[in-house]
Amino acid sequence: MRTVKDLYRTTPTIYQCELDTCPQCQQPLSAAHYVNGRKTVQTMTQGLTIGYRPKVCVNPECSGPAVARPSATWPPLAPKGCTYGYNVIARIGWERQKGRERFESIQAHVAPWVAISESHVRNLYYLRYLPLVACHERQHLAELQQISQTTGLLLGLDGLMPVGGEPQLWVVRELRTGWTLRSGWLDRQDEAAFVEFSRSVPIADLDLRVTALTHAVQCSRE
Ligand SMILES: [Zn+2]
Repeated sequence: MRTVKDLYRTTPTIYQCELDTCPQCQQPLSAAHYVNGRKTVQTMTQGLTIGYRPKVCVNPECSGPAVARPSATWPPLAPKGCTYGYNVIARIGWERQKGRERFESIQAHVAPWVAISESHVRNLYYLRYLPLVACHERQHLAELQQISQTTGLLLGLDGLMPVGGEPQLWVVRELRTGWTLRSGWLDRQDEAAFVEFSRSVPIADLDLRVTALTHAVQCSRE
């Protein structure tokens, strides 16, 4: 019988902020002495404890705000306040939306990897997957313009692969606010598809300033 210890790796995996230099002053960023965002997440491969070590700009001349910059790899693992990983949510979304599967069948399909009830599968679909694929940029236009004028937008592009070899759910998010600016299922993951997808972020027409774009791909099975 598997124990909680087998299901959850207890040693936390700490992600580092991927930026090397400050987007405002271009000086090297320095890693913070603390870890933020510690949480336990159930993904399609394992349960694990994660956190991230932010980076800060220590240049006293820097005109930018004193913000701790997060890791772009950390937030894509799971939404804020949710212990199920995005790859679990993407898998449920794919089966329900594209495969028209019943929640009961989806629960049976993911059960070998994820301890989850049918009502949780339903909740993840309605409360996490649908908002994830809905784009929020119009609702928050005023705030996005304000961020654009102060620090610039920090965008993260994530590929969430529900099952090996099938289309990936790609999501462009503003990392400080967590808002989705663009999302879509892509069946090609080549350079051209990728460039086309990044360019078609609706904010491209809105003249907002982007200071950094990072990307990460997450697989549901290794
Ligand atoms: Zn700086």
